Amino acid sequence: MNKIDLCDLTKCTQCLSCVMKCPRQCIAMETSEAGFSVPSINRQECIECGVCMQVCHQITPVIENKKNPSAVYAAWNLDDKIRCLSSSGGVFSAFAEKIIKKGGIVFGAAYIEGLKVKHIGVDTIEGLQQLRGSKYIQSNIGDCYKEVKSNLQKKRLVLFTGSPCQVAGLFSFLKTRYDNLYTCDFVCHGVPSQKAFDIYREKIGLSQSCIKKIGFRDTERWGFKMSLDGVSIPLINTYYLKAFTKGYMFMESCYSCQYATEYRISDITMADFWGLGDRIPFNHSKYKGVSLLLINSEKGERLTFECADSLFLEERTLDEAIQGNYNLSHASLRPIERNTYYEDSIRMSKFRLIRKYRLFPSWRDYLRPLKRCLQNLCQK
Ligand SMILES: Cc1cc2nc3c(=O)[nH]c(=O)nc-3n(C[C@H](O)[C@H](O)[C@H](O)COP(=O)(O)OP(=O)(O)OC[C@H]3O[C@@H](n4cnc5c(N)ncnc54)[C@H](O)[C@@H]3O)c2cc1C
Repeated sequence: MNKIDLCDLTKCTQCLSCVMKCPRQCIAMETSEAGFSVPSINRQECIECGVCMQVCHQITPVIENKKNPSAVYAAWNLDDKIRCLSSSGGVFSAFAEKIIKKGGIVFGAAYIEGLKVKHIGVDTIEGLQQLRGSKYIQSNIGDCYKEVKSNLQKKRLVLFTGSPCQVAGLFSFLKTRYDNLYTCDFVCHGVPSQKAFDIYREKIGLSQSCIKKIGFRDTERWGFKMSLDGVSIPLINTYYLKAFTKGYMFMESCYSCQYATEYRISDITMADFWGLGDRIPFNHSKYKGVSLLLINSEKGERLTFECADSLFLEERTLDEAIQGNYNLSHASLRPIERNTYYEDSIRMSKFRLIRKYRLFPSWRDYLRPLKRCLQNLCQK
């Protein structure tokens, strides 16, 4: 009997390490109806070497890398333009710029043709705009780990950014520790498949469009807002964001994520600093966005220190961070709606889907632009 057993649909995070490392290339990914993939072994070709199980971070955890943050900051990029174009406070751009200015390369999620999301490497400051901003769609890791490795072996500085499971996948793939590798993950709510987004895109009539970028975050005030190449989407069409927030479309493994904890896998963890100032006073305006930074290693400390001239930094407590950010202590709950959402989103009309899953815009969504106008007037 073959002793090799890989992850099932409820555990696989699709890092593809097993596919890339198999010496016989006998592992393929099979795609589920929801558009997520799982590894499948060609048993005839398999030589039972076990490499695939060693490089699977769900089977052979990379636990020794998990660290308790040594420092917690409320932070933002001192460049207001970058701060507003980013999801929270724009800290990612500060780290990425530093690495590029030192001749390094930064890997992260970008939109490519057809509004697909893929991990790419960028080594120019202008190129960074492709990585900036949260895309609430699973990023296809492609050959990225191989590219990271090749750059590391050439002694180039590398910053890899992504979800915690993508960072774990990279560590499992590399197996070796590299001094020239920096990693940044984020506190992660969960990832919907590219297919979930493609179905949505068709439903709102965007299938043939030449739109290059879909935004999920407000560029004027810290918060959520969907836009197409910078233009707001009518509220009724923003139901994708609601389904994301409610966790209806996540990869199955997100609901039991082992990385949804304060013990982090990367050198630095970025997030939105939700709840900042609720219990301990914070004496600065938050309206342009505030990042939470967890510094998890000496490398993370060094990089943050080197970026100190481009960042506002105020030390806060880990308790405050955990209080405001559910996914720092729990994986997202799997709602019952997850069982049917994908199937329904394919067969139902937009309005039926919105009605069945209660994805209507709330009165708060309608009032928000008015509130914003008033707040802007008060700021002036
Ligand atoms: C799917 C997803 C879920 C998230 N869930 C939470 C949450 O529950 N709580 C919270 O506080 N913060 C969450 N975040 C993180 C947060 O939205 C910001 O990305 C983070 O605070 C960094 O913001 P920034 O302003 O510094 O930089 P930004 O410029 O906004 O961030 C860009 C960085 O995010 C990476 N990125 C963007 N989209 C993806 C993607 N699809 N897959 C992998 N990497 C991606 C880029 O590679 C880059 O490193 C989530 C982000 C994503 C993408």
